[in-house]
Amino acid sequence: TKTLHIVGGGMAGSEAAWQAANMGVAVVIHEMRPKVKTFAHRTGDLAEMVCSNSFRSDDSEQNAVGLLHWEMRAANGLIMQTADRHRLPAGGALAVDRDPFAAAVTAALRDHPRVHIEYNEITALPEGGHWIFATGPLTSAGLGQAIAAETGSDALAFFDAIAPIVYFDSIDMSQAWMQSRYDKGETEAERTAYLNCPMDRDQYEAFIDALLVADKTQFHEGETAGYFDGCLPIEVMAERGRETLRFGPMKPVGLTNPHRPDEKPYAVVQLRRDNALGTLYNIVGFQTKMKYGAQTEVLRMIPGLENAQFARLGGIHRNTFLNSPTLLDNQMRLRSRPNIRFAGQITGVEGYVESSAMGLLAGRMAAAEILGQPLAPPPQDSAMGALIHHITGGAEAKTFQPMNVNFGLFRPVDGLKGGRRGRKDRYKAYTDRAKEAWKTWLEQSVLDATQTV
Ligand code: FAD
Repeated sequence: TKTLHIVGGGMAGSEAAWQAANMGVAVVIHEMRPKVKTFAHRTGDLAEMVCSNSFRSDDSEQNAVGLLHWEMRAANGLIMQTADRHRLPAGGALAVDRDPFAAAVTAALRDHPRVHIEYNEITALPEGGHWIFATGPLTSAGLGQAIAAETGSDALAFFDAIAPIVYFDSIDMSQAWMQSRYDKGETEAERTAYLNCPMDRDQYEAFIDALLVADKTQFHEGETAGYFDGCLPIEVMAERGRETLRFGPMKPVGLTNPHRPDEKPYAVVQLRRDNALGTLYNIVGFQTKMKYGAQTEVLRMIPGLENAQFARLGGIHRNTFLNSPTLLDNQMRLRSRPNIRFAGQITGVEGYVESSAMGLLAGRMAAAEILGQPLAPPPQDSAMGALIHHITGGAEAKTFQPMNVNFGLFRPVDGLKGGRRGRKDRYKAYTDRAKEAWKTWLEQSVLDATQTV
């Protein structure tokens, strides 16, 4: 039982295995590919980059992702050192020759004397032993069900469902009005939280027709896996029945149109304020797979949105992630089953770099625990620490969404000027402070080397 089992040999699992094995622990990686495929991976290699081949900015003085690169290099990170070896010219970004990169990560782990790779799908959460689950945004359906059974389905998301966001100043307020349903809310901020666009019957019917024929992006085979009932695209709702939207996100109840108080709207599209400034509003419940061109055309049929400008268009994509702030402790262990850690994108970070970073931490923490010398959590001033602190405690659990590393997660540095020039100094101060904190933590977390298992 001194073996560390890692499920998923992606960005996070590969890094976790490397770190733990180098600390002296025997590791078994369980990777389902190539036997079981995902819609995005092409190969059976570990650490496959499924989409872009970029690890983003490599600037460790002015950029939070670049700082994560630096911290991982300082910790002998496998993903970073392999990326450096297969670097392609790309200005300030770290772009990587993806196939040789993945092949080299796979070889490094296959050839490691303390790592064993098994190609199998894991579909249950084991009772005993030490485990890290790093199965990523495309966690297999069977395992997803097992996790949901443990965490409750509310605490596990399977999709990022993005509703379109509109600039407030492009909305025609001679047709739209502000009101929350049943006039809920007492403060000014609450009363301006919702904005409504009315439709009469003809407008509604025409809108449904347009939704039905609009150009859509198809889900990839296997992408939906029967999960997405909680966030159906509006066009799929329209396909299920012409009235479905009118009884769903477009229901007209609890609202009175001040421009036409005598006329009950047949349907209402609601928008919710999206930022404190009130400059952005998102269209409630309007996640969609319509292509961008079709989307703007169809949405501009909504009365009040004829000239709408969009800050972001809608989309839906598969992304399995936990509500980490409620489920994980500061060692990334499942509170209800501390023999299980999670790492990578499934913990609610986003991207190759952040996922590898959370793998690095999980691997070190698990190995230290197995060796009987548990590690303190990394300092919050490091990029690693800022990220893990955010997902395991700092973030608001109710609205938890996947996060990229960014300087907004860092404690402020005192005594610096504001403004654009000030920003450069501030970022430099963050990164200097982070590097010091990270170096100190790494030095303190060197274990007694005689403890090899
Ligand atoms: P992965 O790298 O996905 O690794 C998880 C591994 O677990 C996989 O190898 C999988 O086969 C395996 N697995 C799953 N279930 C099981 C199981 N039950 N048993 C055994 N093994 C299992 N990030 C970027 O930075 N840039 C991008 O451009 C980008 N584009 C993306 C496009 C798509 C379509 C998707 C889905 C994701 C994209 N991402 C992108 C996110 C990126 O893929 C992740 O951030 C990163 O790969 C996550 O690392 P991970 O180790 O958590 O998961």
